[in-house]
Amino acid sequence: MINKNIYLDNHSSTQIDERVYKKMVPFLTNIFGNPHSESHSHGWISNKFVDLSRLKIAKAIKSKKEEIFFTSGATESNNLIIKGLAFSQKKKNHIITCVTEHKCILESCKFLEAIGYKITYLKINKFGELNLNHLKKKINNKTFLVSLMHVNNEIGTIHPIKEIGEICRKKGIFFHTDGSQSLGKIKLDVNYLNLDFASFSSHKIHGPQGIGCLFIKKRKDIKITPLLSGGGQENGLRSGTLPTALSVGFGHAVELAEKERIKNMRKIKNLKRIFLNKIKKSNIKFILNGKIALIIILI
Ligand SMILES: *Cc1c(COP(=O)(O)O)cnc(C)c1O
Repeated sequence: MINKNIYLDNHSSTQIDERVYKKMVPFLTNIFGNPHSESHSHGWISNKFVDLSRLKIAKAIKSKKEEIFFTSGATESNNLIIKGLAFSQKKKNHIITCVTEHKCILESCKFLEAIGYKITYLKINKFGELNLNHLKKKINNKTFLVSLMHVNNEIGTIHPIKEIGEICRKKGIFFHTDGSQSLGKIKLDVNYLNLDFASFSSHKIHGPQGIGCLFIKKRKDIKITPLLSGGGQENGLRSGTLPTALSVGFGHAVELAEKERIKNMRKIKNLKRIFLNKIKKSNIKFILNGKIALIIILI
């Protein structure tokens, strides 16, 4: 079925890139081994390709390959870090996040609140921006995690991740970002950005739906309680057989997004300009949300 409507919801999901799809096909047909099977070549072959994807993702965010853990998507990555880190705390019980986070962060925090954890939901200004002094003031000796998204999925606000990371490092608090909307669009370097954890999703960058990953910095003091019990895949953190085809697709989508990032951004900027000019010239009443509103007014 072909839907001819114009699609303007790419923050929600994107169409799979034909080149990504083609890379996945062999793993949906001939190459079917369980990537965790260590005793035969079918397993080894699948594993080799899963590992190659892990390497491609690591390269794109400048992490180590061992710091990438595959999940079913950013929702699972966010649940795993918020709950898994909370469950392994001994003395600390406080998380700082923000009212504009994705539902999977907010609902994970609400879940924890219901069982006794304390959560601070930072407020924002009309552009969706945070006040970093406010953030600093909310940190207390029970705070173990700050979780603030990189790029907002509704109005595009970009939080100053590097500065927030610096604040957290100084205070000895873990810092997580939901990078679903920044991967492939903004140059990412997890060390430069002072990140301990970051969540990513494949289907926001023309990869397949149903896969994502969590970056976890290699640090001795990090303990995360797994949410799934099972075969202990992904270094014991996320049990369950990895979907080889989806991993391959995700890895290729990341590689392409990174390679074509500047070209894509130019194209999107141009489309944005054309779109705004068209609606400005029409009789349609509209308001712009976020920082873009300010930029347009200034032009
Ligand atoms: C899409 C999105 C998610 C959820 O990702 P899934 O891979 O669909 O679970 C989480 N956070 C943000 C910011 C998103 O845009």
